[in-house]
Amino acid sequence: MRIVVPAGGIGGARFLQGLRAVLGTDAAAEEQTTDSSITVIGNTGDDITLFGLRICPDLDTVMYTLGGGINEEQGWGRADETFTVKEELAAYGMKPTWFGLGDRDTATHIVRAQMLAAGYPLSTVTEALCDRWRPGVRLLPMTDDQVETHVVVDDGGGRRAIHFQEWWIKHRAALPAEQIVGVGAEDAKPAPGVLAAIAEADAVILPPSNPVVSVGSVLGVPGIREAMAAKTVVGVSPIIGGAPVRGMADACLRAIGVETSAGAVAAHLGSDLLDGWLVDEADADTDVEGIEVRSRPLYMSDPAATEAIARAALDLAVELAEKGEERG
Ligand code: GDP
Ligand code: CA
Repeated sequence: MRIVVPAGGIGGARFLQGLRAVLGTDAAAEEQTTDSSITVIGNTGDDITLFGLRICPDLDTVMYTLGGGINEEQGWGRADETFTVKEELAAYGMKPTWFGLGDRDTATHIVRAQMLAAGYPLSTVTEALCDRWRPGVRLLPMTDDQVETHVVVDDGGGRRAIHFQEWWIKHRAALPAEQIVGVGAEDAKPAPGVLAAIAEADAVILPPSNPVVSVGSVLGVPGIREAMAAKTVVGVSPIIGGAPVRGMADACLRAIGVETSAGAVAAHLGSDLLDGWLVDEADADTDVEGIEVRSRPLYMSDPAATEAIARAALDLAVELAEKGEERG
């Protein structure tokens, strides 16, 4: 089975741990030729340049989570982290102070900054970083071009666009968003290998990632959505019982005028893209025209629960792919 997964950070990475376990691909097996493979198309819309360093939060969360270096409780950043560099930067009056870049994490960013400055594209840099972390999946950025999600807010002083990270971290998404824009998305090209991986895939699985600023950003790179729509696509709802499981995806959905419900998110993703949609048992009455909806527990509470969700998504994809073949 060849599976493609467009992923954001925490939700995407956790789901990928389960999917990797189900498909039996791991860091050791990566060396051999396996029948199963997972290609992750990572969201880079959250990327930002701070302190002269290009920061790719979602790529790093996937890499650290699958590579065993993540801070498990937090869901982002390195385990056993210290923040001396951050304190020293603050002592120099360097802004912003709201972004938590730890000491261990800083090393990753120095490697990335050096390679980017030498002219390597982000996809090559990501591959180099993964040489250390061996995530057991192929991790590709959605694009090598610069795409940055900006949020149009009005904080009383008039409308202005701020970087997604400033809205998300500094303002905790509490400033009402009027619009969410992928700056640079229109002119971006899928990174090398992205379209080929989709074309060769047996199925595309959407993890429970933020539907607007994670999955939505990946789908916003011209060519990716169309390529995925030609495949069997099954998604896992990040919304349970009318609320995000963690994070503030409801604020993103509100900004684009989509109700925070499992059904509304599926309808927003569209029946041209989605063939199947897993919702939680709490949302068992969800019905979306043109999409096969199944309900089961969707909390990734421990590795076994996460694996079971991944297995259910794969099973549904296989079932729907077979149906698709019968229909011809
Ligand atoms: P981010 O980039 O770190 O915000 O992470 P993602 O975009 O990958 O994922 C965030 C989404 O994952 C949020 O909308 C959450 O509601 C969803 N999520 C987190 N944990 C779970 C879980 O256990 N089950 C489900 N169904 N969704 C989850
Ligand atoms: Ca993210």
